[in-house]
Amino acid sequence: MRDLVAELAEIDRQGLRRRRRLLESPQSAHVRVDGRDYLSFCSNDYLGLAADPRIAETAIDSLREFGLGACASHLVNGHHRAHDELERSLAGYVRLPRALLFSSGYLANLAVVTVLAGRTSDVFADRLNHASLNDAMLLSRATCRRYAHCDLTELESFLARSDAADKVVITDGVFSMDGDIAPLRDIARLCERYAAWLVVDDAHGFGVLGERGAGALSHFGIGSPHIAYVGTLGKAAGASGAFVAGSEQLIELLIQRARAYIYTTASPPPLAAALIKSVELMQAEDWRRRRLVELSERLSRALESRRWRLLPSRTAIQPLIVGENAGAVALSDMLATQGILVPAIRPPTVPKGSARLRISLSAAHTHADVDLLIENLQRAEASLS
Ligand code: PMP
Repeated sequence: MRDLVAELAEIDRQGLRRRRRLLESPQSAHVRVDGRDYLSFCSNDYLGLAADPRIAETAIDSLREFGLGACASHLVNGHHRAHDELERSLAGYVRLPRALLFSSGYLANLAVVTVLAGRTSDVFADRLNHASLNDAMLLSRATCRRYAHCDLTELESFLARSDAADKVVITDGVFSMDGDIAPLRDIARLCERYAAWLVVDDAHGFGVLGERGAGALSHFGIGSPHIAYVGTLGKAAGASGAFVAGSEQLIELLIQRARAYIYTTASPPPLAAALIKSVELMQAEDWRRRRLVELSERLSRALESRRWRLLPSRTAIQPLIVGENAGAVALSDMLATQGILVPAIRPPTVPKGSARLRISLSAAHTHADVDLLIENLQRAEASLS
């Protein structure tokens, strides 16, 4: 029988035990955690909408009118008018024919990949894709090959050698631990050339990149009936959930076939109502994206040629590479003692030897917030050298 005590002890021995902090305030730039106030660079609330009172008011109104739970799956009797309206507004936002809501990005990825790929398909995936895409391709039972991060030469050689009738390329739009943007125009061109579907998980680009935040496809000005676009709603949209957008036929097939859609309860209608408001604000308030650009430029200017390397990211995710696990954890702990929360990310989430601080910027941060982080990093650098 599996020895759980020994397994947990081994996790401790490797210094990999994770613990959950208790958040006691709204999610924002300034949070209360485990009884203490912090300046936080931890959340994916990139546009600073998670605690927006206009969204909360909309949720409350809807909650009063409709109650909380959908308490049925979409195909039984859980598909509410609010879900339907939200799907229409999301499709309009990302300028694709139709969108389908999911309770999480994890489920959206499972759904789209397992519907597009099956036992006889070949799936090609970027090595740094999110875990949910990796799980999705395993679940599809397709033959899976991972190409080196953003390496189009390797991707093309895989595509050229494949004789599968169904080929699917899957990639993050913005890579979650590196903050870099996949070269989607070139990937889409390869997909057209080799008749492959392209799945883009734009969890970190939706709301941040492109015209009015329409995401990575808009950023590159690309579109094709053979692209499945996944956006999540628990990051820039400030709430929870996800959607897949694409052609009429793709969405209809997901409704008919995707087990991760069919066999799960629809999310609460007040959440959908709140998200309609959020999507309206995401499009209207361009200043939030301008603020993000200003903050990331400020950070990279200040951290140029310092001890730790800031990856060249043009998104809200600004990874500071430390290297060893212990060093990253020590730096994160040192900042926490100064009242600044920045998570240390270690393997297996990132490749060995590239443990890092994942600095997440938000439009809720001020210039002074970022300056405080910079000062504290510089002080930590001086104390460690
Ligand atoms: N894709 C990416 C790239 C992500 O970063 C995440 C969440 N961290 C997900 C998918 C999963 O989304 P959700 O949290 O909504 O399940």
